[in-house]
Amino acid sequence: MRDVVYADYQSSKPVDPRVVEAMLPYFGGTFGNAASLHAVGDDATAALEDARAAVARFFGAQPQEILFTSGATEANNLAIIGYAQRNRRKGDHVIITEAEHISVLNIAKYLEKNGFKVTRAPIDLYGRVSPKKLRARITDETILVSVGWASNEIGTIQPIAEIAEMLAGSGVALHTDAVAAEGLVPIDTSAVPVSLMSLSANDIYGPRGLGALYVRKGAQVAPVLLGGGQERGLRSGTEDLASIAGMAAAADIMAAEMPAEAARIGAIRDRLAERVLGEIPDSHLNGAPLEPSGGRLPNNAHFRFDGVEGEAMILSLRDEGVAAATGSACSSKTLEPSHTLISCGLLHEEAHGSLEFTFGRFSKVDDVDRIMAVLPGVIARLRVLSPLYKAKAKTPA
Ligand code: PMP
Repeated sequence: MRDVVYADYQSSKPVDPRVVEAMLPYFGGTFGNAASLHAVGDDATAALEDARAAVARFFGAQPQEILFTSGATEANNLAIIGYAQRNRRKGDHVIITEAEHISVLNIAKYLEKNGFKVTRAPIDLYGRVSPKKLRARITDETILVSVGWASNEIGTIQPIAEIAEMLAGSGVALHTDAVAAEGLVPIDTSAVPVSLMSLSANDIYGPRGLGALYVRKGAQVAPVLLGGGQERGLRSGTEDLASIAGMAAAADIMAAEMPAEAARIGAIRDRLAERVLGEIPDSHLNGAPLEPSGGRLPNNAHFRFDGVEGEAMILSLRDEGVAAATGSACSSKTLEPSHTLISCGLLHEEAHGSLEFTFGRFSKVDDVDRIMAVLPGVIARLRVLSPLYKAKAKTPA
């Protein structure tokens, strides 16, 4: 790789070399189709079920509650559309929050076009949804609530356990997109009674293009992909055994390393935040407080800088060998400001002036020094050109 300081772990993570090693046998030796009845197929079935058990173990689930998909987008589609369609006779109302990933937002629009009612629950200035406000939006027609475990943009962790407890026994199912939180905070479905949970392999340093949906025993979902009936009839298509073995290896590694790794990544993030907020004038933190009790993922630092545009910062940093993000990579090609930041109450120009750094397994403390060797200069240069910043400088305090 080019000598780039990579601080965009939220959009993509390198696959751990130990995971690659675990995947290799499935490109040659064990190549069977788990649906076949012969011995080669049996080997594939055994490998598939071992992997399912490992992924389930990491998330406190039973193996039969894990279905493999092509990624978290597909898992979100299967969870929300599949649950809504299967349970339509009970009601036609779904609740999401304003902080959801673009895939959930677009699924919600699709449901509306297909006759469902969708309510978008507000978030506070930290990006957090209140269980009380969610509860107030539940009607007799509500069948499903979908709340991301944490924000992939600003790293705010939602009170998922409280929301799950509130919904338990009410007949309203809870889906959570846990992708942003995976591998950074404990996720245990035996302790938190969610009904459906979307997962991605890459977010625990497994391969891209593989995900999983946790479906709690008893939750009824209709398939959205029809075919040969693999994955208990809920996700047809031959399983990608190499990637699935990769996700299993990634889960085993993460189970052993997460506490120490999250603390190490958190220290790198804290160092960047301290230096940015201390050394760059008119810089601010977006999202929840950094303290461990603040409800924020340890990998995430999200700032805004008065008078400067996010895209201009990214391109200047790119020239200086730093890879950061303005927000979600999945919506980075739209010029709209982040819906999450706007919902937190930021003005359009504030949301546009935002920059996200996310760290991970291969980040080093030294990365912070390399970022800080260029970031103050980039912002100062852009501010010289900024009519917004000049106007602000002239405004009497
Ligand atoms: N949910 C969240 C929170 C994400 O950050 C992403 C993107 N990494 C997705 C869903 C979609 O995942 P994928 O691209 O694997 O389908």
